[in-house]
Amino acid sequence: MTARLIDGKALAAEIRQQVAADVQAIKAMNRPVRLAAVIVGSSPAARVYADNQARTFAQAGVDYQLHELPEDITQAQLDAILANLAKDASVTGIMVHLPLPAQLNTQQTQYNIDILKDVEGVNPANIGNVLYGHPIIAPCTALAAVALIDTTGIALQGAEVTVVGASRIAGRPAALLLTERGATVTVCHIHTRDLAAHTRRAEILVVAVGKPGLITRHHVQPGAVVIDIGINRITATDTHGKAISKTVGDVDFAAVAEIASWITPVPGGVGPVTVAMLLKNTVRAARLVHGLDQPF
Ligand code: NAD
Repeated sequence: MTARLIDGKALAAEIRQQVAADVQAIKAMNRPVRLAAVIVGSSPAARVYADNQARTFAQAGVDYQLHELPEDITQAQLDAILANLAKDASVTGIMVHLPLPAQLNTQQTQYNIDILKDVEGVNPANIGNVLYGHPIIAPCTALAAVALIDTTGIALQGAEVTVVGASRIAGRPAALLLTERGATVTVCHIHTRDLAAHTRRAEILVVAVGKPGLITRHHVQPGAVVIDIGINRITATDTHGKAISKTVGDVDFAAVAEIASWITPVPGGVGPVTVAMLLKNTVRAARLVHGLDQPF
């Protein structure tokens, strides 16, 4: 392997330390920092996720309040709960776990998350402000991708960047933040005709698709910086030939690490920094709610 590893865990630890200090500073002013997490339905997976999240926020000193709502809740009931959380002065951050059951509209739900308390940056207004180049709160994964690129020291201004994946939550906002930083950005998606032609041009390649092995050595320019946002569970065999389940990204890590200059591992790359950015956004939201920061 010739590429250097971009250490997401180390960057996340640094951000989390700063967040903990910032949370203490707000609390020292006798002001709350409290996240309200909303989960609809009570699948065991959602429960495990919520428990992990509660621990993560507790470690940063953030108060955490879980709202577990029944699977058959109506849109009007959910919207009323979000309106109450928006009004509640003791709540400084709100997030709604996805996916939502079929009777609920995800976009309408996200639209009803108070803009200043929207710690995931998913309210269409917050995504719109990323487009305008003046984010109030930006989506965590896109922020993580940019922060990881910055650790390499590569200049974004004028850099040729290809983003593979154009979702509203990952690829598209990452492309917007990178454009704002002066990069020349190409966005590829499912309908892109010749993916390799675009990815091979990239000095910085950001991949957010959800298909293991999509990006091979053949897709990457030697010396490129590769940021792998994908998280996929696959079945592989261990050294004893036993089937095991493991987490991989969208990039063929072993082959691409031979030619890239820098690469994020999966796990241990974008994932932990995304969580750290959620915490950082939680501080930002609290500061906005308390009038310590201005939106613009
Ligand atoms: P999504 O399904 O909403 O979007 C996938 C995008 O990939 C779409 O724009 C689609 O057009 C594009 N695409 C699909 N097949 C393609 C192909 N063959 N060639 C080029 N583009 C193709 O997914 P998402 O929510 O953006 O998530 C993408 C991946 O990132 C998933 O693996 C997800 O688990 C992961 N993810 C990770 C984090 C993190 O914290 N690391 C956060 C969010 C998402």
